[in-house]
Order: sequence, then structure tokens, then C-alpha cells
Amino acid sequence: MTGIAKTYAGARPVPALRECDLRVERGDYVAIMGPSGSGKSTLLNLLGLLDEPTGGEYLLDGQPTAGLSESRRCDVRAYLIGFVFQSFHLVSYRSAVENVETGVLYQNVPRRARAIEVLERVGLADRMWATPNEMSGGERQRVAVARALVRRPALVLCDEPTGNLDTQSGNQVLDLLDELNADGMTIIVITHDLAVGDRARRIVEIRDGIVHRGIPDVVSP
Ligand code: ADP
Repeated sequence: MTGIAKTYAGARPVPALRECDLRVERGDYVAIMGPSGSGKSTLLNLLGLLDEPTGGEYLLDGQPTAGLSESRRCDVRAYLIGFVFQSFHLVSYRSAVENVETGVLYQNVPRRARAIEVLERVGLADRMWATPNEMSGGERQRVAVARALVRRPALVLCDEPTGNLDTQSGNQVLDLLDELNADGMTIIVITHDLAVGDRARRIVEIRDGIVHRGIPDVVSP
């Protein structure tokens, strides 16, 4: 993305992002870090086509995203992007398998087989018929990751994926993200937790709506 800006309209317009440049290659693993209110969620919403910038250009998979209709944005999102949120967003009384199937509800794919495959992938082979009610936080988040993966997205966007987890469960989820990235998946994670940022290949800092150079860029000679 180049020169991306986002100002929320209102009686007092809020310039949440100003002139942000960010380039993420396929297979990269980027942590976007910054204090509360710095613009991380706004940036993630733009990256995930959940919202539109008020300035600048965003190319996703090499294609311009400006001016896409809402239904086209939905299609692009469905094909390219998986989302993992801090608070899991699972249906608590449905089994893990059924929760994961919702990720491909409207797609013509063998839902059950695909759900079972990704739950095995995230290490929940023996928990797939349990409901989130019966699971630990770490297991729930792995179900949520499985749901994000079931469409086989090229890019996974994570919003504080370990924010509701204890250290051990958080580490399990971070180990899983490491594995997915090693398999070639592009991962962008927003966090204010350095333990999460440390797992990424690079950290991009955002402060007061401005993206700063990644920390590796700063320390390299
Ligand atoms: P972070 O995720 O880093 O906490 P946000 O992207 O949520 O930051 O917010 C950046 C700025 O934009 C903040 O000043 C916040 O109050 C403002 N903001 C976020 N969402 C909205 C919105 N929908 N309407 C108006 N202002 C918003």
C-alpha cells in the first residue's frame, strides 16, 4: 500500500492513518506494533478490505482494490484472506467441525472433509467434536485459526491472536502461526505484545497513524 490515509468522518474528523506505505511480500510474516489508538485496527481493516481508505493506493495480490463493488470485495476477501480475532468469534454450542465449516459455508467444496483436514492440521484431531464451551482458550483459538484456513487463503490477518490467552496457550497458537508461515502462508498480525512481535520476520511500527520503518530496517547497517 502506498500513501494510504484514513480519516473517520464526523463532527470532528479523526485522521487515524496518514500517508502509510507498507509492502508485504508473499510468504512474509509481519507484526504491526504500536500503542492503543495508533491506528493498528484501522490498518488491519483496510488490509482485509473491511473498510476503504480515504487516500492512497492499496494493491492486493498485485491488483488495485479502489473502486471495487462491495460484492467483489467480499469475493476477494473470501478467496484471499483469513481472519483470526482476539475473541475467537466461535459459536459456543456447535462442534469445532461445524464452526470450521462456517468458513466455507457458501463455497462449493467438500465442507466436512476440508474442516476435518484443517482441524488435524492445527493439532485438534482428537478434539474436533468438542464444542468451544468444552475447550481451553488455546484450543478455541486453534479452532478459529482452522476456520480461517479452511478456505486456503494466501494471507491470514490476525488481530491480537493471543490477547485472551495465558502464556502457554498463546505460545501454542504462535507455534502454529510459525508453522503456517514456514509452509508459505503470508501472515500479518497486529499486537502490542512483544512476545508476539518477536515471532514475526519483521516488525512494522505504527505511531499516531504513521507507519515507521520496520525494526530490522532500523538496526541493519
Ligand atoms: P489501535 O487499533 O491501534 O488501538 P485504531 O485503529 O482502533 O487504533 O484507532 C485509531 C484512531 O482512530 C483512534 O483515535 C480511534 O479513536 C479512531 N477510530 C477508530 N475507529 C473509529 C471509528 N469507527 N470512528 C471514528 N474514529 C475511530
